[in-house]
Amino acid sequence: MAGLYRDEGVVLRTIKLGEADRIVTILTQGHGKVRAVAKGVRKTTSRFGARLEPTTRVALQCYRGRELDVVTQAETIEANRALREQYVLFTHAVPMLEAVDQVAQEHEPNPALYRMLTGALRTLARSNSPLVTPAFFWKLLSLEGFHPMLDDCARCGRGPRPSGSFERELPDDVELVAFDLDEGGVLCRSCAHGGGRPVSPAALDLLRRMLGGALNGVLAEPPSAAAHEVEHLGIRALEHHGERRLRSTALL
Ligand SMILES: [Zn+2]
Repeated sequence: MAGLYRDEGVVLRTIKLGEADRIVTILTQGHGKVRAVAKGVRKTTSRFGARLEPTTRVALQCYRGRELDVVTQAETIEANRALREQYVLFTHAVPMLEAVDQVAQEHEPNPALYRMLTGALRTLARSNSPLVTPAFFWKLLSLEGFHPMLDDCARCGRGPRPSGSFERELPDDVELVAFDLDEGGVLCRSCAHGGGRPVSPAALDLLRRMLGGALNGVLAEPPSAAAHEVEHLGIRALEHHGERRLRSTALL
């Protein structure tokens, strides 16, 4: 039938429409971000049941509309139920959905983004790791083309001497103490002048490992002050990049 299409996607958010309907925003695999009406979804007899809830991964059939598409079928592929049933997991899942909603373009497929989101939600649901969300923020920034300078001062280019060398103890060793979003990376003490956001050596180390291919090891680590720092820095960086606030991160 003309105008009908099938895809799979992750529900990013829903808003009420009229008495019984919702507008569902979905990141699909093949059609980018889609906004579609789910008719009757708020009735207890809805044929969609709870399938069109945020974090759920569904197989969809939609009818293409002029403004909004219409969901005609939805089957659960991955319920990710733990993410909606455990408050702490939910508060970590929703900011990822919001960040994706901001970044994704309507009707423009982004397979890398889709893979990242489905992977992160699955990992969060299974591992409870407090580092999934911050890692997701930084990977998302990287996907968007933002690669922070972490090894040398983003302003003057100086950095610490190679580790493992006794020269590290010399007084001209440059200490990286802050993160500056406009400069796109870390600042040494003399460039920072008390400006930028203070960043601890532990947080910098965590961020380097997160972005440097050691993500699995990072995800196995317990909660820490450094993890919290990396998370909040990631939020500020995303907001800076997107030029708007991420409202749902207030719960983190
Ligand atoms: Zn400097």
